[in-house]
Amino acid sequence: MSVQNSPEGFTISSARNVYSMLMEAKAPGTDTFDAHVIACILAMSFAEAKAEHIPLVDAVGLEADQLTDLVETCFPDALAWLSRDIGRRDIARSADEACLLDLLKSGAGRQTVFAHRLAALVARRAQRPNHLWQDLGLRHRGDLSDLMKRHFAPLARRNSHDMKWKKFLYRMICADAAFSLCTAPSCGECGDFETCFGDETGESLLARGRRAADLHGSRSAA
Ligand code: SF4
Repeated sequence: MSVQNSPEGFTISSARNVYSMLMEAKAPGTDTFDAHVIACILAMSFAEAKAEHIPLVDAVGLEADQLTDLVETCFPDALAWLSRDIGRRDIARSADEACLLDLLKSGAGRQTVFAHRLAALVARRAQRPNHLWQDLGLRHRGDLSDLMKRHFAPLARRNSHDMKWKKFLYRMICADAAFSLCTAPSCGECGDFETCFGDETGESLLARGRRAADLHGSRSAA
């Protein structure tokens, strides 16, 4: 990958370019869906790290050596330019994030290094304010459902009523702590039903960034 292609002057609107660059650098042995998921998360996190002037490790919730290893495994040719922004800092987690990480790790279908790193990425991205699939940079909720079924199947099966994923994960950690956030004895008679089970659609944040970049480009050319 040439230096000219590296994400200099990065903004949220160019996150989509980072996604494309990562996918172009995909290792032949990396599963395409897994590469897509990791590229989405890294692109979204990269944009936020640039916008908020924080190291990439803070946006993804992995230690520098773990993130380096993940990139080297999935996108080896991207490591040269990405490594400049990885940063070095001990990862601090809130109590909620640490509980989410434990929940995801214990709910992984296979106890692999990849699954545990994915768990850390999801737990960190779940701290952001949008739908979880949006803050993972994914295309739609279906991507997240596929990710959960593929890598966290025992946990995903517990979401039998198709609750919003972030709500579901937080309900699980409350249930594991024998604590309930529920204000009604059953979902059917609960005033929070829409909050837990309502619409989880929306616009992909990477697609939104791409559209903003295109609009900006066409205005500049006019
Ligand atoms: S709808 Fe109400 S009862 Fe059901 S999980 Fe949500 S808060 Fe709990």
